[in-house]
Parts: sequence; structure tokens; C-alpha cells
Amino acid sequence: MSIDRMILGFNSFRSQYFEKNKPLYQKLIRGGQKPSIAVIACSDSRVDPAIVLQAEPGDIFSIRNVANLVPPFVSDDSHHGTSAALEFAVCGIGVEHVIVFGHAHCAGINAMIKEQKGEHVPWHFVGPWANIAAEAYVRTKKEMPDADEETEARCCEKNSVLVSLENLMTFPFIAERVNDGRLTLHGWYLDIVEGTLLSYDPEEKSFKKID
Ligand SMILES: [Zn+2]
Repeated sequence: MSIDRMILGFNSFRSQYFEKNKPLYQKLIRGGQKPSIAVIACSDSRVDPAIVLQAEPGDIFSIRNVANLVPPFVSDDSHHGTSAALEFAVCGIGVEHVIVFGHAHCAGINAMIKEQKGEHVPWHFVGPWANIAAEAYVRTKKEMPDADEETEARCCEKNSVLVSLENLMTFPFIAERVNDGRLTLHGWYLDIVEGTLLSYDPEEKSFKKID
């Protein structure tokens, strides 16, 4: 997509979508945004949650990063972008649901797998960031030690969603709200080959197709 086509896209948005939905925008300006759902999705251009979930403005508080990862809670003076967005969504807006939105063929998870196999990821930030999900690789190796690369990658992507769900619970303000019922966590996985959406069932310990 070229920049020119993007500008044409914006013009189309303004003349059609924005004009048609002015009352919605006015309501969201007067009352502020109050989405009840926060989604942590990958930066990948193929998995935009607003498109996949057909959401309207005001519906989703969207947090996007490489490989849709949640780092563990750390309280220091570093710049924690994902943690700041989570804090704002949960404490500021008061969302009732947080969805970790994983997906198939994730380059970020592939980078983590490479790091775990001792292959060099030739950038400064991606490797250490992706390694937040290192435990997903350890679990996958235990679950399917002889799997081929594709199967292993799909399993790592799903396990990384579970690692992020566990990391969410290391945030005191999230654990507190989950425990008293104000907040529910969800692990979803978008299969971009089949066009299907799976949800993690903690009782059955497996991902199940959402119809
Ligand atoms: Zn991805």
C-alpha cells in the first residue's frame, strides 16, 4: 500500500464512515471512551483486532506489540509501554475483559524460537522482548519433543498466550480485580490460515474453536 493510497483511504473514511458515524464520535467525545474490552494483539499487519472482530470506535482498547506479549510486572524506572497501556485500560478505564490475542505464523514468536535454539536474531530489541515468551518454548519441547518446525511454532504461539495470561496475574491491580470478579482474562488465538478463532479453556487446558 502506498502513502497516496492511504491518503485516499483517509478521504474515503472521512466522507463516508466519519460522516455517517458522527453521532457515535460525538457521544464518545462528550462521554469519553469507555470500552469494556482491552485486547493485546500483535503488531502484525494481518491481525488488526478492530478488523478481525469487526469493532466500532469506542469498542476496543487496543494494545499492540511484537508477538502480543505481556511482560511480567516490574516496578522500576524503565519505560514499560505495554504495562502502562494495561494500567490505563484496567485502572483508568476500568475494562472488564482483557484478551491476549495470539495468532498463527507470528514472526515475533519465531524470533523467540530462534533465540531459544541459539540462533542470532540480528537486532537489538526484538530478541530480548520476544524472550518474554521463552517459557512457551520450554513447555512446547516438553509437550512435543519430536514435533516438526511448523507444529512446534504453532504450539509455541499458543503456549505464549498462556505465558502472557500468567504474566497478567503478576500485576497487583489485575490480580486483585480478577480475584474479586471485576475483571476476566481471555486467551484467544487467530488461525490466519483457516480464518478461525480459538479460545483457551482453562478447565480442559486446551484451545477450542469459537463459533
Ligand atoms: Zn505476531
